[in-house]
Amino acid sequence: QKLIKKLEETIENIPDFPIPGIQFKDISPIFLNPGLYEEVIADLVNFSKGKVDAVCGIESRGYLFGIAIAVALEVPFILIRKAGKLPPPVISEKYDLEYGSAIIETREGQIKPGERILIHDDLLATGGTTEAAAKLVEKQGATVAQFSFLIGLKDLNGKEKLDKFNAEVYHILE
Ligand code: 5GP
Repeated sequence: QKLIKKLEETIENIPDFPIPGIQFKDISPIFLNPGLYEEVIADLVNFSKGKVDAVCGIESRGYLFGIAIAVALEVPFILIRKAGKLPPPVISEKYDLEYGSAIIETREGQIKPGERILIHDDLLATGGTTEAAAKLVEKQGATVAQFSFLIGLKDLNGKEKLDKFNAEVYHILE
């Protein structure tokens, strides 16, 4: 597929960032090319069209595409942020990292009970962040209908962590 090839040529693989042994995928060159950005949005919108009532984006790279997806779908966009950034009242979810733990939050009441939610982020690695976001959605009585990512890394078993939500999972690249 043409989009996959263009993205592979555009996304930069940075060795040993942010720590030795990790290869970081830098998506920022996509924003230098508005036409390519539009193609990415069109592809992600096509996946979700008619299937969700709202989009949740995960801080911070999940916002770069998530807002555009929501606007195109004509549905609300809801921020999921790291702890302490959103004013109260918030709903929180704690999750484990490789070392220690983290908390993500969303404004209480913005996700409505019974809604079908798309959770979007730029990249799926271990799935820890996305799983916590999905729990946050369920805590508010909504259902995770879909997950979408630009990139789903294959070797870290992120997808298996998402199995239990019985949602569709889509990523443009591996
Ligand atoms: P996970 O919780 O699945 O292990 O990590 C996914 C989160 O870390 C996402 O929010 C994603 O933005 C960020 N992340 C981890 N590795 C990379 C990377 O190589 N490139 C980018 N752009 N984000 C990454």
